[in-house]
Amino acid sequence: MDLLELRAIAREVVVQACELTADLQKRLLSAEIRAKSDLSPVTVADFASQALITLLLAARCPGLPLVGEEDARAPREDAALAAKVHESVQKFIPEVTLEQVLEALDKGSHPGGEGRFWVLDPIDGTKGFLRKDQFAVCLCMIDNGKVLVAALGCPSLPVDPPPAELGCVFLAARGQGATQLDLASGRERAIHVSEAVDPSSCSYVESMESGHSSHGAHARIAGRLHMLPPIRMDSQCKFGVVARGQASLYLRCSDRDQQIWDIAAGAMIVEEAGGKVTDLQGRPLCFSRGRTVGSAAVFASNGRIHQAVVEAATEAATE
Ligand code: AMP
Ligand code: MG
Repeated sequence: MDLLELRAIAREVVVQACELTADLQKRLLSAEIRAKSDLSPVTVADFASQALITLLLAARCPGLPLVGEEDARAPREDAALAAKVHESVQKFIPEVTLEQVLEALDKGSHPGGEGRFWVLDPIDGTKGFLRKDQFAVCLCMIDNGKVLVAALGCPSLPVDPPPAELGCVFLAARGQGATQLDLASGRERAIHVSEAVDPSSCSYVESMESGHSSHGAHARIAGRLHMLPPIRMDSQCKFGVVARGQASLYLRCSDRDQQIWDIAAGAMIVEEAGGKVTDLQGRPLCFSRGRTVGSAAVFASNGRIHQAVVEAATEAATE
């Protein structure tokens, strides 16, 4: 199977998972928005999105392992949760049985490393999902540490600067560039990072949640470069926003080794849009170490300001 066929498969399955998750997000009730109970739509959506994508991939591209964020333990122990997940998946695959859904969820436990496998975060940014804000369905294929194809579904992201319709999927295949597919219109167009060279004219994106990355560390780096104030957003949508040139930098400095499903798909889309993604010292990322990246701090830029950010980060670390 060539890269463009794999990209088409990734596109098709992520579009369906966007429909599934966007529908469940719309049905969130106000009580559920405040508390993530075990049966809340975000929990159901997490498992249903992973099961649906795993089943669709197995039918189109059999035999490839998957590194997924979720597994079947919780739905196997909770019949009510399993039934809701099954019902959600059946809307897309009517003949699927409960056991097939659970078996699909068991397949996400691949340890990563060398070789070829899919990587999936079925709902990245669950906090954003619960706030009825940004979240992403993130799928990519990795081959010996390099991302070959990626699809980043952002069902709540405006397709253009607001006011604009919501919902797009960022797509890329290695060496073929990156695109944005608008979910409502079906229009697909090439995207590129910003051309800005002066950091002081650039804005940066960071997590909404200060527990996921250090807003203080970001402010110290951005402050040295006199950058514009941050745009805060949940999920890998941040990579998409850099890839299409809406912001020039995504900073993610945390205290914990990053999971590959939180980084790999978005990173490749930024690179294919002309940008650069590295650790804070400017070293390239490698996705063959296992289920984590081996770095607690990563950033994505338009490439042109990358070296200035590395230097600012080095200076900020000695402050
Ligand atoms: P974001 O929406 O960008 O805030 O990122 C959401 C992701 O952050 C989740 O998928 C978690 O896996 C991840 N996460 C949670 N805590 C941390 C942490 N301390 N460092 C890095 N990532 C984290
Ligand atoms: Mg995640």
